Amino acid sequence: MSSEAILSIRSASRSGPVPLIDLVEQHAAIRGEVQQAVDAVFSSQKFVLGEEVTELEHEIAAYCDARHAIGCASGTDALILALMALDIGPGDEVITSPFTFFATASAIHRVGARPVFADIDPVSFNLDPEAVAAAITPRTRAILPVHLFGRCAEMEPLWRLAVRHGLAIVEDAAQAIGATYRGRHAGVLGTIACFSFFPTKNLGGAGDGGLLTTDDRDLDVRLKRLRVHGDIGRYEHIEVGLNSRLDALQAAVLRVKLRHLENWTEARRANAGRYQERFASENLEEQLVLPAEQSGCRHVYNQYSVRIRDGHRDNVLATLQSQQIGCAIYYARPLHLQPCFAFLGHRAGEFPQAEAAAGEVLSLPIYAELGEARQERVITAVIDAVKEAGRRTITIPFRDATRKAA
Ligand SMILES: *Cc1c(COP(=O)(O)O)cnc(C)c1O
Repeated sequence: MSSEAILSIRSASRSGPVPLIDLVEQHAAIRGEVQQAVDAVFSSQKFVLGEEVTELEHEIAAYCDARHAIGCASGTDALILALMALDIGPGDEVITSPFTFFATASAIHRVGARPVFADIDPVSFNLDPEAVAAAITPRTRAILPVHLFGRCAEMEPLWRLAVRHGLAIVEDAAQAIGATYRGRHAGVLGTIACFSFFPTKNLGGAGDGGLLTTDDRDLDVRLKRLRVHGDIGRYEHIEVGLNSRLDALQAAVLRVKLRHLENWTEARRANAGRYQERFASENLEEQLVLPAEQSGCRHVYNQYSVRIRDGHRDNVLATLQSQQIGCAIYYARPLHLQPCFAFLGHRAGEFPQAEAAAGEVLSLPIYAELGEARQERVITAVIDAVKEAGRRTITIPFRDATRKAA
């Protein structure tokens, strides 16, 4: 790199806010394509399902190597539809992670079944298969692993459990489009997979949207019926479904963006590689734990989530916010401790790994358009904040305690 280039990176990195994600910048790069696609939908005046949605379904099925894809109104609805199509309801239990977005567990409750939490693995943030095995009861009908932050859950032990106990697997792949597990895509790692096109997901629409994938022909037929009120045509309803259709406008925008998804994913991965390299050279591994990749699997970094140890996370968060560096906590409160799930009777301390993660995680900017200059500013700010937080801790000799100075 020329010295001029280095200088310009340095000066750009010294100031100016860095957002956690910048969809305005993403849109600027594809504005023409999006406008053309949206225009075509308006010209057709066909706004619900239809050809655009069918094409998107084919393209995403091909992308994931799945036999069938079913568009719907949101990722949350995809989860609800998946459980409905598997006839899961009152009296049934579904095992899932307490460390995920709310919808994972709310969908289980919404169909009348009971969410049963199993603790997470501290390295992957995903379901710990041994904890899942311990949570299985005669009422268990399905396992609902989440590919959190864009890293696939450890599926092979879950497949074995599913076969042994006759369980379905519903993938929550909302954060994981394009991720792979041992060469297979998220979307073909279970009975049914659920995707979200919420704008901040790796493939985000211009509003809400969702999609399911499955290799099972009967489930495909059932899901396509359930999303239109159980209608089999000519207003004949053989079961009660939902109104959960994908809009043609969303499909048109998503088809444009799908063409860019691989490039964006590779840019996210390159950003993650840069964080990895720069943080690793600081010898901060005791205080700053970086996300890990598994060999043979592709992490798509919907979030780049580090752990800040020793109770310093909130200090580091405040420091970064004061410098206008975008960062966020996903997720601050594990689901077993949410007020609406009090009826499940859980206590703090029951899922220690999920609770520890909730107290330590911090997500940093990772979006494709971030660029080296802005990322350099994030890196410097994080390193300084972590070191500063460490200096403010006094270890009291001969006592198993630490306290903050001043
Ligand atoms: C975003 C998300 C959902 C829900 O998707 P919506 O489209 O917002 O309804 C479900 N699970 C996880 C893990 C998510 O990140």
